[in-house]
Amino acid sequence: MSAAGSRITATEPMRAAPAATVDRILAETWPDAACELQATDPWQMLVAVILSARTTDIQVNKAMAVLNEHLLGVYAYAELDQRELEPLIRHLPLFRQKARAIVEAARALMRTGGGVPASIDALATLPGVGRKTACVVAGNAFGVPAVGADTHVQRIVYRLGWTTREHPLEAERAVMARVPPGRWIQICHQSIRLGREICRRIKPRCDRCPLAKVCPKQGVE
Ligand code: SF4
Repeated sequence: MSAAGSRITATEPMRAAPAATVDRILAETWPDAACELQATDPWQMLVAVILSARTTDIQVNKAMAVLNEHLLGVYAYAELDQRELEPLIRHLPLFRQKARAIVEAARALMRTGGGVPASIDALATLPGVGRKTACVVAGNAFGVPAVGADTHVQRIVYRLGWTTREHPLEAERAVMARVPPGRWIQICHQSIRLGREICRRIKPRCDRCPLAKVCPKQGVE
């Protein structure tokens, strides 16, 4: 069945896009793709990634600039009451949950010396830190090979036929199974660029996509 002009569902057999070709095209198209969250150390990266849920990197970077004017380092955050942090980030969605997660993570880190761990598993034990956040922090703050499967990555690997649904853990595993570890961090940044600029959730622009010839366009109407 052709993808064009017909609805494709997740239950139909789907020929997955060849990973090596996808990897090469993404690397050639967005060689400069990088994390757009502004952070100067692992703690700032952790705060920024917690703040990034359901908002844009631009909004997060504005919030980080405000936070950096008032707070320096994990100790300062651990000393806060959650209600003191909330006004500084209240323009962000889920600001109460984010303030609680940040303060609780800071306190947990202070109990073990204050350093942010580099391992994904250790990061994921912090309060309010899920596996996706842990992967993004480990990758971008420490260079640990990791797949931070955000909403763009989940959607794109599904449309490429690498998964049968949009799911963070399945997307992470699908990329890890197909792409060399040395490319995990960068292919996520490149997928995010693809997702923002071309493979949007609504009306993906397949006609101008560099992956169009190899992508089965799973789930695209
Ligand atoms: S824009 Fe279309 S062709 Fe490109 S990755 Fe998305 S679904 Fe595939």
